[in-house]
Amino acid sequence: MTITDWNDKVLKRQGVNARSAAPKIVRSVGDAKRATLHDGTVVERVEMIWVDGYGLVKCAPYELHFIYQLPRHIPGWGLMCTCGSIAGVVGYNAYTKLASPTDTGMIIVCVRHTTLKNNEGIGRHADESTE
Ligand SMILES: [Zn+2]
Repeated sequence: MTITDWNDKVLKRQGVNARSAAPKIVRSVGDAKRATLHDGTVVERVEMIWVDGYGLVKCAPYELHFIYQLPRHIPGWGLMCTCGSIAGVVGYNAYTKLASPTDTGMIIVCVRHTTLKNNEGIGRHADESTE
């Protein structure tokens, strides 16, 4: 299954009908601070992204990949990880077991990474990189 199919399956299960075609990352530099999408748009690592309904939400600080907002001219699910997975807002305690149960903060995570981490104990991005 390609990551795009996987994205669609996950979104559909949650009742979301957005197409989530993952923009292909054609180039990213070693420090994972910026990446170039297939149409030449450069996206950069940011600490926080404005998400409708949530406000400013912190991005999970992955080392190998980063969360970015899909540019408005590219149709699809608005939040992506540079690994190709969709990204999404979760409670901070879903991101790390270290969070206190009373921590009500929200964080944007790579959905693929978080799903595999919860299911298998090891977080893996769509390109199989672990962190
Ligand atoms: Zn990822």
